[in-house]
Amino acid sequence: MNETEITTVKNLLANPKKIAIIPHRSPDGDAMGSTLALYHFLKKLNHQPVVISPNDFPNFLAWLPGSNDVLIYENDRTNCTKNLNEAELVFTLDFNALHRTGEMEQVLSKLTVPMVMIDHHQKPDDFAAVTYSDTSFGSTCEMIYNFIAYLEKTELLDKTIATCIYTGIMTDSGSFRFPSTTSKTHRVVADLIDLGIDNSEIHNQVFDSNSYNRLQLLGRALQNMRVFPEYKTAYISLSQKDLDEFHYEKGDTEGVVNYGLTIKGIHLAAIFIEHKDENIIKISFRSQGSFDVNQFAREHFQGGGHINAAGGKSYDSLNYTIKKFEKIIATIEIE
Ligand code: 5GP
Ligand code: MN
Repeated sequence: MNETEITTVKNLLANPKKIAIIPHRSPDGDAMGSTLALYHFLKKLNHQPVVISPNDFPNFLAWLPGSNDVLIYENDRTNCTKNLNEAELVFTLDFNALHRTGEMEQVLSKLTVPMVMIDHHQKPDDFAAVTYSDTSFGSTCEMIYNFIAYLEKTELLDKTIATCIYTGIMTDSGSFRFPSTTSKTHRVVADLIDLGIDNSEIHNQVFDSNSYNRLQLLGRALQNMRVFPEYKTAYISLSQKDLDEFHYEKGDTEGVVNYGLTIKGIHLAAIFIEHKDENIIKISFRSQGSFDVNQFAREHFQGGGHINAAGGKSYDSLNYTIKKFEKIIATIEIE
């Protein structure tokens, strides 16, 4: 943030306010970690913050401090709309366009109070009074740490805030292995550990909470994988039938897309998941190296994200969507 933006935010936070904090729909560790970190921080600044998620968050994040206070828009539209309309200030975290909040966009787009965006996705829309957007960051959580430093309030950092921040840095960096992990990331993490977080326990909470069904579903996903060495591509598909068979719960397919990239020589991985209730195929893309899946998802599958991790969707059938993907990869060059 530049000096003007810092001053604007300081002024916005100068007196106690009702503040709504919004993550993207189907929030991940970074979205939940960043919104809850900001929630605890703003409470310490004597504001009245509330986190309003467009829909439910996965169970493996339900231990996060403050998660019980999170309101879920799609479960209680009346109360959430009331809270949104009463907010004097809105923070939008870990997303770059209001449509990423799904149905909640209808309410958000009508609000006239100032918004502050903190996000690390490419091409942010221009809806916020202050847009703190920087794609060089591996996570919004790391930006929240900087945000607190910009406000000269690092003395307010505590174990609770640090735990939330660590969770998002850890999940969005693939446990500190993605190229966006910098020496600065590790310096921030060192500080978080000094604040008393239990980093090993946080990892356990997020990654060692599998159900047997989830592992069986992973088994099915790996069996369904198709590999095209000549195109350096692997994809996985999961039909609604697969999901039903293993009693799919939100979060069960998190990270499964990455298995494609673990095959030697594969630089593009995708997963196609059929959600019949929403009549949608949800797609995730991951790449290794210079192949830009953000661009790819924007161009072909109504999505976006980052260079090496992006998502998209299709309203065609699962089969048609996969065939379309196969055709496209046969025509492009994957480094
Ligand atoms: P995931 O595959 O884990 O859902 O998403 C990977 C990355 O792409 C995340 O940073 C996510 O926010 C972003 N992303 C996923 N789906 C979409 C989409 O439909 N549009 C845009 N712009 N970004 C997306
Ligand atoms: Mn993120």
